[in-house]
Amino acid sequence: MHLETKAIHAGRGVDPSTGAVTIPLHPSTTFERGADGSFPSGYEYIRDDNPTRHAFETAMAALEGGQAAVAFSSGMAAITAVFEAYPRKGNRIIVPDDMYFGIRSLIDETDIGHRFDFVAVDMRDMDALRAAVGAAPTGLVWIETPSNPLIRVVDVRAACNIAHEAGALAVVDNTWATPILQRPFELGADAVMHSATKYIGGHSDLMAGVVVLPDASPLERPLRMIQKHKGTAAAPFDCWLALRGLQTLPVRMRAHCEGAQKVAEALRKHPAVEAVLFPGLPGDPGHALAGRQMSGYGAMLSFIVGGGAEAAVAVAGRLKLVVRATSLGGTHSLIEHRASVEGPRSMAPSGLLRLSVGLEHPQDIIDDLDQALSVAGRPGAFRGVRLARDVGYRPK
Ligand SMILES: *Cc1c(COP(=O)(O)O)cnc(C)c1O
Repeated sequence: MHLETKAIHAGRGVDPSTGAVTIPLHPSTTFERGADGSFPSGYEYIRDDNPTRHAFETAMAALEGGQAAVAFSSGMAAITAVFEAYPRKGNRIIVPDDMYFGIRSLIDETDIGHRFDFVAVDMRDMDALRAAVGAAPTGLVWIETPSNPLIRVVDVRAACNIAHEAGALAVVDNTWATPILQRPFELGADAVMHSATKYIGGHSDLMAGVVVLPDASPLERPLRMIQKHKGTAAAPFDCWLALRGLQTLPVRMRAHCEGAQKVAEALRKHPAVEAVLFPGLPGDPGHALAGRQMSGYGAMLSFIVGGGAEAAVAVAGRLKLVVRATSLGGTHSLIEHRASVEGPRSMAPSGLLRLSVGLEHPQDIIDDLDQALSVAGRPGAFRGVRLARDVGYRPK
């Protein structure tokens, strides 16, 4: 079956007891024993397993092309579980230097940072990755592509090969690409993680995470035990919403990508914009690789306005349609000044605004950005500051 069909049918069928076409929501925390003390339904207690969560896990495994999936209460709970579950080898984990900021906070502000030896590298540079993996026994290589917030594209196949040569597992955070645009198992990944809070849910109204695994994964049992005993399983209602979101994921991603391409092209031409970071633009350093590795360029982009933080915040402040809010992957376009969110350790240049292109008409998004970028009818007023060069991006 094709992805569009799996997104609607996998893990779900018409409910045999009622004929209901949409999957029922089962909030029940507990399930009846048979007279002999057994559990005839296979379900016992919500933390161990639940029919709605089970359906979401089955659907995600099918959609991502894996064999099993383990659903957690959030993307961060899923990431933490993978770090804790991986087969230890010097407790060493290689992460990208441009990574989802929540992981950096997890490392810096919880015990996770003390329990593992994290090494950050620029994963576009395979020599740097090989050197990092070879420097000491390494258990896990964490891959995120496209990256946050610099929208870098990492060669998943090459990074997985380097991990495997060193006996490490390679896990891909596929949140931004989704199973529709990027197929990490076909590129060698040992596990695929998603924050379902983003595109999978798709409507900014649920929080969940999931790890998808191939057959006979060494991660499956430890992840199940963490999910069950540490109590970080996804709630049935969130799984039900995620299943609802999944059904339209393929068509939403097509529309997200189309919109983002148009917005990126318009921003590129705007005189007040110094650089647009988006792999769909032919001049982008990740363009060719994304073209080979993904079936669409995604809908996350960053752009850099001249004039630094003050100018960028002012632009965001003038937007009327695009919402100033964190997160991504929903129907509403969202914008965020990442440097002020991330603080002094941020990789984001001070003039960078990260945009999650939603499902509004692209022209309306472009018009809103245009009016926000034009100060009193003087487009280009912010032009000419050095920020774009700080991270090696040439202004166009
Ligand atoms: C949001 C996000 C996460 C964390 O997911 P939560 O559901 O917010 O815990 C991890 N990775 C990426 C790439 C994300 O965008």
